[in-house]
Amino acid sequence: MRLVMKFGGTGVNSSTKVKAISNLIKQHHDSKNDLVVVVSAIRGMTDDIFSITDNIKEGQKVSVENFMKNTRASHLDILRNAITDEAIMKKANLVVTQLLDELENVLRGIVLLAEVTPKSLDYLLSFGERLSAPIISYALQDIGIKSEHLTGREVGILTDSNFGEARPLMDTTRLRISHKLTPMLKDGVLPVVTGFIGADQNGITTTIGRGGSDYTATIIASSIQADEVWLWSDVDGLMTADPKIVRDAKVLKEVSFAEAMEMALFGAKYIHPRSFYPVIESKIPIRVRNAFNVNHEGTVITQSLTKASQKIVKSISAIRHTALIDVSGGEMAGSPGTASRIFDILAKKRVNIMMISQSPSESSISMVVRKSDLEKATTALELNLLGSIIKKVSVNDDVAVIAVVGSGMRGIKGVAAKIFGSVARRNVNVIMIAQGSSELNLAFVVNDDDCEMAVQALHNEFKLASSSGKQNDVPRKG
Ligand code: ASP
Ligand code: MG
Repeated sequence: MRLVMKFGGTGVNSSTKVKAISNLIKQHHDSKNDLVVVVSAIRGMTDDIFSITDNIKEGQKVSVENFMKNTRASHLDILRNAITDEAIMKKANLVVTQLLDELENVLRGIVLLAEVTPKSLDYLLSFGERLSAPIISYALQDIGIKSEHLTGREVGILTDSNFGEARPLMDTTRLRISHKLTPMLKDGVLPVVTGFIGADQNGITTTIGRGGSDYTATIIASSIQADEVWLWSDVDGLMTADPKIVRDAKVLKEVSFAEAMEMALFGAKYIHPRSFYPVIESKIPIRVRNAFNVNHEGTVITQSLTKASQKIVKSISAIRHTALIDVSGGEMAGSPGTASRIFDILAKKRVNIMMISQSPSESSISMVVRKSDLEKATTALELNLLGSIIKKVSVNDDVAVIAVVGSGMRGIKGVAAKIFGSVARRNVNVIMIAQGSSELNLAFVVNDDDCEMAVQALHNEFKLASSSGKQNDVPRKG
């Protein structure tokens, strides 16, 4: 088989784990598979880069020394304990130390300027993956595998210049990747590619969005006609609910691309939603697996589901601790452009809106945003719109969004009644509701205090813990 295997940051954050995944890769390599490996930054590294650049932007004093001391220690420690061969160790050490030195120089320059542009931020962020890829590649060489490490640019991922959320230009990208990787695979070389990063037409480093390594993996898979993409992490697969809330939550065997996309937005295991596009066209299945529990089959995400997996409701997910903003005012009704002004103002402040609902009376719009964005959002709305088109901004600062996902919901009557009936029986108040016309999910908002109760109630109602999970008490269309 030709496989693209992606390892998340939790798979590479200690030398023991690096050795474990190297052996796992070797095992699949030895059984005559063509493999391409994609790696994320070591867990926490991307967040750390974001937080130091935030501090620089806010004019706070930052200690490049401290940051570099920790970063050097974590990376070199893994390297030194994961590789035994001295010659390989020497080479690896040189490559990684050079990258660390470069990172230090760039950081010092940015601190002097006290300015972080989206372009320089992407450059800084790229060090996370640029450091982890050689570590894995040399660890593979250490156990006898011919391997080379490549950056997103080197492998051929061409993007636009929208730093932070760059979009790959897929046709050129596919050609380049296939030209680059096919000969390597033919020669028995195992490429280890940095996730998350690409380069624009001028060769400037870009990143493709948080969690983008999954996306890198599917881009590569679609370029080399891989048979499957395997996303290895430290969970067994996609689940019927968050096991922290529902004790008998189950790993889902099979999920469709459409369902997975909905779950990606709401679920516990975050898959970059755009990751699905490259493989949907070419119908390449994605497997979500646990690198530290390899006997578990994990979840397969495919185009069409087997009969047993065609359920009305597949999972109940929740995004906890979010905030609800309700803007209202009589003048909002019947005046075109109101919604666009509201969203525009929030977009300019980089507030991401997770859910929207407007009543047909048009006199109010409710939005769910991250708690951390709440103040920014209300300030921007008050400054720009209060007193003109909106009269009132009210907030509820601790709500949860609950999403019920399943492709079998489409065209089936009574699902909503069942959902809200079951929630009402637990005395949970529903604050806001949204259902996309795709009917793949129905999402609603409750006070966060009620979240666990509602999720448990729905998990029971749709019998998600039992593997037969017959849900045929909901009337079929017709
Ligand atoms: N390191 C990047 C992030 O944390 C990409 C990834 O992990 O997939 O967002
Ligand atoms: Mg990640």
